[in-house]
Amino acid sequence: MPATLSRRIEGLKASSTVAFAGRAKELARQGVNVISMTAGEPDFLPPQHVLDAAREAIDLGLTKYTPSEGTAELREAVAAKFQRENGIAYAPDQVMVSNGGKQVLYNGFLSVLDPGDEVVLVAPYWVSYPAQIELAGGVPVVVRAPAETGFVPDLADVRAAITPRTKVLLVNSPSNPTGAVYPPELVRGFAELAEEHDLWLFTDDLYEHLVYDGEFVTAASYAPERTLLVHGASKGYAMTGWRIGFGAGPKKLVQAMNRLQGQSTSGANAVAQHATVAALTEVEKTAAFQRMTRAAYVERRDVLVEGLNRLGLSTPKPQGAFYVMADSSAIDPDEERAAIRLLDEARVAVVPGTDFLAPGRLRFSYATSLDNVKAALERIGRLIG
Ligand code: GLU
Repeated sequence: MPATLSRRIEGLKASSTVAFAGRAKELARQGVNVISMTAGEPDFLPPQHVLDAAREAIDLGLTKYTPSEGTAELREAVAAKFQRENGIAYAPDQVMVSNGGKQVLYNGFLSVLDPGDEVVLVAPYWVSYPAQIELAGGVPVVVRAPAETGFVPDLADVRAAITPRTKVLLVNSPSNPTGAVYPPELVRGFAELAEEHDLWLFTDDLYEHLVYDGEFVTAASYAPERTLLVHGASKGYAMTGWRIGFGAGPKKLVQAMNRLQGQSTSGANAVAQHATVAALTEVEKTAAFQRMTRAAYVERRDVLVEGLNRLGLSTPKPQGAFYVMADSSAIDPDEERAAIRLLDEARVAVVPGTDFLAPGRLRFSYATSLDNVKAALERIGRLIG
């Protein structure tokens, strides 16, 4: 009998955000003039003090294993960030560091889900949510947020999705892939539902620093004792490749996630952890960097949203993150065919909405230069004619 793969992995699809971003990078490497609006990857370098700290880490010989849960310095810096910016008091042992926000979240699902447990989440959703839930044996239960509300869900629909099997409510604002920023009363509503039904609340706050209109509030601030706060350096600090995520929550959960991480991957990259301490503690310099990047994203968003709507790829104006979910029908009502035409004929790479559960939509990331945004719109205009 031939050696087989596990049923778990046979059913697992590749991440389409990673796949489409990889395809665009490979085309560029081959010399094709492609504009990539695929991955949510800031085009900015991290701020200078972060780069300096990474060099310092190498010079100091900070190249050994760190504790599995992350260095004490970084966990203290993360706890101080949550106190300063979010008003939540976590002890450093309620904080852990992982290989990107993705691993924090996966550690979390593996630590709370038993087979058949349900997780309520909002669609369009980030492609890896359902995949991670299913890998952990759970069942994703989807609440749809329509374009007409700017992809903001109705709390009554979230309530209606809760069953006796529900174990986790998942909230993500600003949202990947829609850029929706939920009003504080809705975020509070998620927390109240979690309290009422005795559920875990997972909040993915990776886009906290990328809010352009409206106000960021973390669900963790309403129910810290039952919330896993998922965060990381990738988006707001432009540190994607450094692979530093951090999570905070009740000690029982964080300890479980640490046990899991100690047996699976151990601590995250030592040099990157030292650099992230600088990102979190050199507060003024980081704030100046974030003001600069936010202003750039606002300009790009406004140009992109206006341009796409003018071309008939209609989209609400997102309030945060750096994504736009545009209607594909001006190119092709089938979003996968539309994405292929965009790539093959216009050399603009995007991610089709399929795996975000957003049929008929294309995700454009504007984490790329304003010139690229303008050039992409011109190319799309020529394609549509
Ligand atoms: N989170 C980013 C995105 O959605 C990076 C790719 C990934 O990890 O999915 O594009």
